[in-house]
Amino acid sequence: MKTITVNIVTPDGPVYDSEVSMLIAVTATGEMGVMPGHVPTVAPLGIGAVRLKKDNSTEIIAVNGGFLEIRPEKATILAQSAERATDIDLARAQEAAKRAEALLQAKNADTDFKRAELALKRAMNRINVYEGNS
Ligand code: ATP
Repeated sequence: MKTITVNIVTPDGPVYDSEVSMLIAVTATGEMGVMPGHVPTVAPLGIGAVRLKKDNSTEIIAVNGGFLEIRPEKATILAQSAERATDIDLARAQEAAKRAEALLQAKNADTDFKRAELALKRAMNRINVYEGNS
């Protein structure tokens, strides 16, 4: 079976480096599926799950923004942060979601709503990836 190498890198270091048969990522304009031989492309990524398909298994990684660079034999994701499902601290993500929700509900004029919304989105993405719901 044909494969494509996927590298996921963050400022904290490499998160993933393996051959897969398909990668599905959430780009700024929607889901994008990448198979071996894909045309060279660069796409900005949103906050979302990256799904990596191998023979009979799929690994899911929570990715927070960045860029996806595709070449026919290799896809590289440079992300602000990325966690494999097994590395996600569920309690931390739940606390982060609670904090962001409280800020959004308090409707305080001093709140940076965009920032709180992004924090909530990061936390919900981590929770969904941890729970395998992505
Ligand atoms: P928090 O408020 O809990 O710090 P955050 O969304 O502000 O969450 P980020 O700034 O996105 O956190 O990430 C900072 C670092 O912490 C990154 O290295 C990221 O991978 C890691 N990280 C954040 N939340 C979690 C989590 N729930 N489980 C594992 N690692 C996490």
